[in-house]
Amino acid sequence: MKEYLFKVLVVGDIGTGKTSIIKRYVHNIFSMHYKATIGVDFALKVINWEPDTVVRLQLWDIAGQERFGNMTRVYYKEAVAAIIVFDVTRVSTFEAVQKWKFDIDAKVKLSTGEDIPVVLLANKCDLAKEGLVKNSAQMDKFCEDKGFAGWFETSAKENLNIDKACRFLVTKILENT
Ligand code: GDP
Ligand code: MG
Repeated sequence: MKEYLFKVLVVGDIGTGKTSIIKRYVHNIFSMHYKATIGVDFALKVINWEPDTVVRLQLWDIAGQERFGNMTRVYYKEAVAAIIVFDVTRVSTFEAVQKWKFDIDAKVKLSTGEDIPVVLLANKCDLAKEGLVKNSAQMDKFCEDKGFAGWFETSAKENLNIDKACRFLVTKILENT
């Protein structure tokens, strides 16, 4: 039996749905009324990855510090992957994505010295009528240019693509172990 524990950061601007995504993924619940997270919130997702492999994801929910735009090294320490979330209805949250990516790349590396795998989530796609992601080829290009492992349109509200995105991320993490 193989068991892994992986620390995964969940970052992005305030109100993009980080806490909602984690609650959906771990507890399968959604509310329109989460309070802003204060302090650091952890959630543990246990995945029966293969018959002989259990993966535990310790999800670190960035907490209120969003407004400072960058996190301390201590928070990032020993993370093996990250999720950056933006809100498809607010362009400023997409513009902040690069800043988050730079911050992560500057402060945390794998033991090999490589950047940790990062996936980009275009959240609230249930509101996508007014959404930003009109051109998925452009998003592919953006992710390739900026060094994202991949991107997914997600909805915490409608439970779209969250499992898929996390499975993808675990695959990337396991490639590095
Ligand atoms: P955080 O600050 O990034 O942790 O964002 P929250 O998870 O607190 O979410 C901010 C607001 O957006 C809340 O009112 C959520 O209910 C709402 N929200 C989060 N995800 C979605 C989604 O996928 N669709 C919609 N329509 N609303 C969402
Ligand atoms: Mg939150």
